[in-house]
Amino acid sequence: MISLDSLTDTAVPENIRLGRDLNVDKPLGEHAVLSRIREISEKNEIWRSYIGMGYHNCRVPHAILRNIFENPGWTTQYTPYQPEVAQGRLESLLNYQTLVTDLTGLPVANASLLDEGTAAAEAMALAYRQNKRRKVYLSDKLHPQTLAVVQTRAIPLGLEVLIGDVFDIDFSNRDACAVLIQYPDTEGTVKDFTQVVENAQTNGTMVVCATDLLALAILRPPGELGVDIAVGTSQRLGVPLGYGGPHAGFFSCKSPLVRLMPGRMIGVTRDANGKEAYRLALQTREQHIRRDKATSNICTAQALLANMSAMYGVYHGPEGLKNIANRIHNATVVLARGLEDAGHVIENEAYFDTIKVNPTLAVSEIRMRAQQKAINLRYFRDETVGIALDETVEKEDLDDLFWVFNCKHTTAEKVVKNLGDMVLPKEHLSKSPFTRTSEFLTHPTFNTYHSEAQLVRYMKILENKDVSLVHSMIPLGSCTMKLNSTTEMMPCSFPHFTEIHPFVPPEQALGYRLLFEELENDLCEITGYDKISFQPNSGAQGEYAGLRAIMSYLDGRGESHRNVCLIPTSAHGTNPASAQMAGMKVEAVNVDKEGSIDFRHLVAKLEKHRNNLACLMITYPSTNGVFEDNVKVVCEMVHEAGGQVGLCRPGDIGSDVSHLNLHKTFCIPHGGGGPGMGPIGVKLHLEPYLPSHPIVDPMALMQKRARSFGVVSAAPYGSAAILPISWAYVKMMGPKGLRQATQVAILNANYMAKRLEKHYKVLYRGNKGLVAHEFILDMREFKKITGIEATDIAKRLQDYGFHAPTMSWPVAGTLMVEPTESEDKAELDRFCDALISIQCEIRDIEEGRSDPSCNPLNMAPHPIVTVDALRWGQAA
Ligand SMILES: *Cc1c(COP(=O)(O)O)cnc(C)c1O
Repeated sequence: MISLDSLTDTAVPENIRLGRDLNVDKPLGEHAVLSRIREISEKNEIWRSYIGMGYHNCRVPHAILRNIFENPGWTTQYTPYQPEVAQGRLESLLNYQTLVTDLTGLPVANASLLDEGTAAAEAMALAYRQNKRRKVYLSDKLHPQTLAVVQTRAIPLGLEVLIGDVFDIDFSNRDACAVLIQYPDTEGTVKDFTQVVENAQTNGTMVVCATDLLALAILRPPGELGVDIAVGTSQRLGVPLGYGGPHAGFFSCKSPLVRLMPGRMIGVTRDANGKEAYRLALQTREQHIRRDKATSNICTAQALLANMSAMYGVYHGPEGLKNIANRIHNATVVLARGLEDAGHVIENEAYFDTIKVNPTLAVSEIRMRAQQKAINLRYFRDETVGIALDETVEKEDLDDLFWVFNCKHTTAEKVVKNLGDMVLPKEHLSKSPFTRTSEFLTHPTFNTYHSEAQLVRYMKILENKDVSLVHSMIPLGSCTMKLNSTTEMMPCSFPHFTEIHPFVPPEQALGYRLLFEELENDLCEITGYDKISFQPNSGAQGEYAGLRAIMSYLDGRGESHRNVCLIPTSAHGTNPASAQMAGMKVEAVNVDKEGSIDFRHLVAKLEKHRNNLACLMITYPSTNGVFEDNVKVVCEMVHEAGGQVGLCRPGDIGSDVSHLNLHKTFCIPHGGGGPGMGPIGVKLHLEPYLPSHPIVDPMALMQKRARSFGVVSAAPYGSAAILPISWAYVKMMGPKGLRQATQVAILNANYMAKRLEKHYKVLYRGNKGLVAHEFILDMREFKKITGIEATDIAKRLQDYGFHAPTMSWPVAGTLMVEPTESEDKAELDRFCDALISIQCEIRDIEEGRSDPSCNPLNMAPHPIVTVDALRWGQAA
């Protein structure tokens, strides 16, 4: 009998063990943790926000809130790489793509990006990849955060950014890769861009249009204006504000650009029985294959939120969306007329839901009156005021706004009476060239489920097609599909967390501030870093942010020539993709047959690049599931050569920056492909270089002079609304619980490796014969005799009710198993039994008892139609 401690002492090299308990709070029970987090949430003040800027209140249909957002059957699935057990969310994500293509009037869309800002930056990068021109024009009427993210991302590409009025641009030099416009723009104005589009395109410049899906229910879509790419956020289609995220960013484009499109795309195909089925399309673009040549580093996106928006579209249908859009527009017209009656000047010629008011009274006065009513408005520098309405606005809200602007005798009622007719869009928009005349969402899916009874059944039918953690363990190596406990998830629906605009004055978001501070303290204690930035909203974003911080730091030391990034060949494919995007030169370092960094090769690379070395980027524990003894030495060597060390997993072993995937280790569910959070921890010397933000600057509280490299997400704190999950996890575990979780994860992996080693080859082990928290099973030996490959085993596992482990990564022809600490022995055994039984089936082929061309493995999976068929190998 050996103890947990002695097992982990053997598995984890001594020089990287902490050797003491973590200094985090004693554990709280489930009820105590909920009342604590409720108290924290209630420090946020919920005002009515008419700030706009890409974030709007909306009514999340309760059926969607409860049956998707709060339902582990929809939140805990993995990214849909195994299409047979993912048809439900693949269909829903295809609905999302249809929603985006139909509303934007462009033929293809992806299944979500991280937010509007990064979607715009991806569009710019696509244009640059396409035509290699080094200038990009940005409209000064883009949202400020979009401008900031795009500017930040333009720097390493070496692009010259010009910001101004896009109607004045002369494109005839033919040196601009793209022009970015916004429709309706950040001030709410709707303009006819046809001429700009034509001028740009005749001169080979691509046109990217940031837009608002709800507005497009009644406005002429950008596709009809001829733009090449449309981007934006689908937040207001049924996703709460959540202080900035998570929400889905969208991206649609013309067909010829489809192969350059970032992110994942769902396609329709046929299954073995000839039935229509869905799968991820164009997967050859994945970073794992293209590495530093990848189109983008985006991996985790916003699948869950895309599904919510898709269902919002399914529920309301085209007529419902038009009604909602018309109602908002009507309210805006009423507001504008009322304000004009009182002498205020509306600066927008045409608008959808947002107006810019040049008021007759002082802005300071308006601000005071707004505060009395707990109303947030957008205050421009030029003494004008922005008001953005949304689907939650009622007559009383308009009356309050009239009061704020001191419109003495105006009420919504009166204005409507004066106008005589509530069918205002006829009067306002349809006389303009902007009225939408084309149909959209004509597919039956968007015209069938308009009652709650039907919608709930539709969502359940889709949910039932997928395997998620509510069915069985999902032992995905490197992805850490651990329990996402109900208690951790509950705060995500607290109104004081969900109903708050990201750009409210900081004093209204004190609850969030406290949450960030407490989580930052705990994460610093756990990882050994000094400061955390919560801005990156995925692991890939975290990598990018960390690398940019390193580049800025080196630049600050007058060493901007240092640009070489060493990356072991075993690294996650996002690593080289991120490094390339950050403007670094990627140099690969070999790994030995144990899965460790090839020390001699590393030394040779360090020597060769020592004058230009920027950093070494490693994953720890290594992706092969082994703790390397020599990590500390490696870090020292890199520092000695003048470089920095970026790490993809926590650890206080001499590294300078690290991204933590809270959607793996810290219990945020995967959502079927997002949301995620990829905050970065840094040592003190890198702190001044962390991400900033143009509206709410997280660096503003810092004592030291900030020298931030820029902005990586549209929202200042990324997907803030899911941070309560990780906070609650740490608070419920306490120091002993966290330690024990790690120990049990290592125990579980070693237990499974031990049970399976008699049947399969376990590829890499540390020098004590133990694995870390995950391990690789080598399936390559079966191929020669039986023709069976890792995919066959993965598919056969589906017949046993399991999602396959990570397949053919980081080593081709293998399966990587990560059981996590959440699973009990019975479930581990159930999975091992399945694999052992499969091994017997392989032996049956090997020894002639089973037909090599028709056997349980190569025919897998076996859906009901196959099981029910008269003959095996034929559809019924
Ligand atoms: C998961 C993972 C990533 C990618 O994270 P995303 O959130 O999907 O962008 C990068 N590096 C490592 C080591 C990972 O395990």
